[in-house]
Parts: sequence; structure tokens; C-alpha cells
Amino acid sequence: MGVRPLLKLGHPTLRERAEELPLEAISTAPIQELIEDMIETMRAHHGAGLAAPQIGESVRIAVAEVRDNPRYPGLGELPLSIWINPVWTPLSDRVTVEMYEGCLSVPGLRGLVRRPGHILLRAMDREGKPFEHEFKGPLAAVVGHELDHLDGVLFVDRADPKTLTFTEKYDKFVENEKRLRVFQS
Ligand code: ZN
Repeated sequence: MGVRPLLKLGHPTLRERAEELPLEAISTAPIQELIEDMIETMRAHHGAGLAAPQIGESVRIAVAEVRDNPRYPGLGELPLSIWINPVWTPLSDRVTVEMYEGCLSVPGLRGLVRRPGHILLRAMDREGKPFEHEFKGPLAAVVGHELDHLDGVLFVDRADPKTLTFTEKYDKFVENEKRLRVFQS
């Protein structure tokens, strides 16, 4: 199918808890096609990640891919990643990340969100093979944002409301050093 339409803030599917995917479903053609569509849709919209509910599929799959992004100095890079039935646990409460997040389902808006900055992600890959990966720093926030989608949570729920800003104002008024900060105590 390719690039799929994105659901936007207000669509009830974005607020549902997405279903676990049974292991035997992962290798089926519809799920492999869904993963391909998610990757294509994320790339077409220059997103850092995409969760299946954002294209109307209420299952626990997220994809992410981060290249150095001029809007977020220091975000880092993440090769294309596919996370099926993902869960994360904090590895430390001493590292936190503050980042002006945006979302393909909330176009044109950004807001400052604080998240755990050192986590362990456990998931299955697109072959159904379990793996785990440690994230420290800004990419931990990317994981947190995408996995929130699978529980019906959007960044606007977590953002400090006073920091909400339209993207054009973000580009104009939010200084580079305030866009993304890592705190370590
Ligand atoms: Zn999002």
C-alpha cells in the first residue's frame, strides 16, 4: 500500500490501548506489509518514529529512525528500528531528558516534555526474535514518545502547557540550547 494517511489529534484510535501482537502473526503478510507501510509513512513525513495507531492500526508496533536533525542539535542517530510488543523500564532515575517534542499526529505543534533518560527497551524484531537495547540520552525520549502511542498517550498530555508552541515560533524563538537538554544528577 505504501504511504498511509496519518490519524490526527482527536481521532479516537490514537487514544486506545493498542493490542499485543501474537508471535505467530508477526511473519504474516498483512503484518509485514503494515511494517513496510509504517516505515514508508514515517520517512515520507520526515518523522523520527511512527506507531501503528497513527495509521489506524491498533497493534503494538512502532518504528523509528533518527538521522542528525537540525531542529534538535545533539539528538544523535538511530538506525531503522522495528519494535513489536515493546516495553521499557528505567535503568536510572538520575538521567532525564527535556526535549521540545513534536508528533506527526499533532502537526505544527511542539512542547517541552521531560522523560527518563536511561532505559532498557525489550521488544521483538520483525522476525519475532526478542531483543533488548539500552538507550541513554535523547534517544530514550524518542522511545518513550513512540511507546506512549501504544497506550493512547500523546506528547501534549505530558508537555508543560506553557511551553506549547507552533513550529514556526519554535524555529524563531526557542534557542538551540533549550531545545534538548540532558540532566544528570
Ligand atoms: Zn508521535
